[in-house]
Amino acid sequence: MRQPEPEPQSFDRVLSSMCTEPHPDARAAAERFLATNPGDPATYESVAELEARAVEGLATLAAHSAPADAAGYVTSRGTEANVQAVRSARNRHDGSEVNVVAPASAHFSFTKAAEVLGVELRTVPLDDDFRADVDAVAAAVNDGTALVVGVAGSTEYGRVDPIPELAAIAEEVGAGFHVDAAWGGFVLPFTDHAWSFADAAVDTLTIDPHKYGQAPVPAGGLLAREDAALDALAVDTPYLESRSQATLTGTRSGAGVAGAVAAMDALWPDGYREAAERAADNADWLADELADRGYRVVEPELPLVAADVPESEFESLRDAGWKVSRTGAGELRVVCMPHVTRSALRAFVDDLDRIRR
Ligand SMILES: *Cc1c(COP(=O)(O)O)cnc(C)c1O
Repeated sequence: MRQPEPEPQSFDRVLSSMCTEPHPDARAAAERFLATNPGDPATYESVAELEARAVEGLATLAAHSAPADAAGYVTSRGTEANVQAVRSARNRHDGSEVNVVAPASAHFSFTKAAEVLGVELRTVPLDDDFRADVDAVAAAVNDGTALVVGVAGSTEYGRVDPIPELAAIAEEVGAGFHVDAAWGGFVLPFTDHAWSFADAAVDTLTIDPHKYGQAPVPAGGLLAREDAALDALAVDTPYLESRSQATLTGTRSGAGVAGAVAAMDALWPDGYREAAERAADNADWLADELADRGYRVVEPELPLVAADVPESEFESLRDAGWKVSRTGAGELRVVCMPHVTRSALRAFVDDLDRIRR
């Protein structure tokens, strides 16, 4: 018996996701390249060429005015990019006791990386405004530190760590330095934040097309200032025409690669700038509306608003169909992705008013 076709959710009431509706060109390109595998470039030649363009595009975003010559590849997602950054640093580190120093705000993918790779993850406390505490990071590093991690756009509060200061600490102990801009990477080029290769001695960087990049899932990105960081990941590949592979997965998504290129072709830089400005305006607007109603609001730095909304009101918002989530500390968290319109936010605030009455 035929079941009714399942429908994907609509994005109308999705307020806490870090993914968004893909750009129409990206959707079309992804479908065209659905049956390709950039993991086997000798067979799937055109998608391999597209991947080089994707890396060039991501490197351009991450370069500001510096030359965009970073190496890298299109990962399956941010998690893979972060795992690979840790793996590369571990492989390049001398000594058997290896640790990675990251702020408490670092994404849980670093916990996975540490477990899988058998390295110690040292998480250090944040300052009062949810950024990595530089002194705490300095106190945590030692000879065994293979990698220091900075977050440029944290998952819970959208904070940007003091990247140049963290890079300097890493340099002092001879550790690598990784920036996780999985979510923030397509917004940060339009802000004054120091976050990427041009701003500090960043060795590797995570930047996901499938978040603010408006590419379809799955498309993440790993960039490296020097080829050596990728070379440290290469393994021999006996049955393929290409001799070695630096990626974590074998077969990969050609749809992700083609979608990322199409999105960047369509949107870099003006489309992304407009999206970033609209998102920032929306976040500021929502933060003001919530503060006006007496909620404690964490001032948005990137377009993400966290506010102390009581449990009962949060549950009522969920019951009203709003797809919202909370931070570890319990605040309501609204991520102003490109699909989140001002009118959706107005409807959300109206519902909140109705619930409060
Ligand atoms: C989303 C996110 C990740 C993980 O990326 P996935 O694509 O979900 O695997 C890592 N770091 C940050 C800061 C993120 O926002």
